[in-house]
Amino acid sequence: MAQSVAPPTVSAPAVPAKLPLAAIAPWAVFFGILMLVLLYFVGAEQGATSVFNGTDIHEWVHDARHLLGFPCH
Ligand SMILES: [Zn+2]
Repeated sequence: MAQSVAPPTVSAPAVPAKLPLAAIAPWAVFFGILMLVLLYFVGAEQGATSVFNGTDIHEWVHDARHLLGFPCH
């Protein structure tokens, strides 16, 4: 007796949700500026340039500065 086997169902691939670029753009700019400020403090503050007096910021970011290859001392 022949048994009929149903063919496997093929589901349509999931379509990723579209990202609203207009909603993301302000956050992207904000975090971009935040990263540039962080890069400045890690790479240049109290080294090549100095906004704040003393060496506290330099001491806090010193290892990261060497890790990223910024000239230090
Ligand atoms: Zn150093």
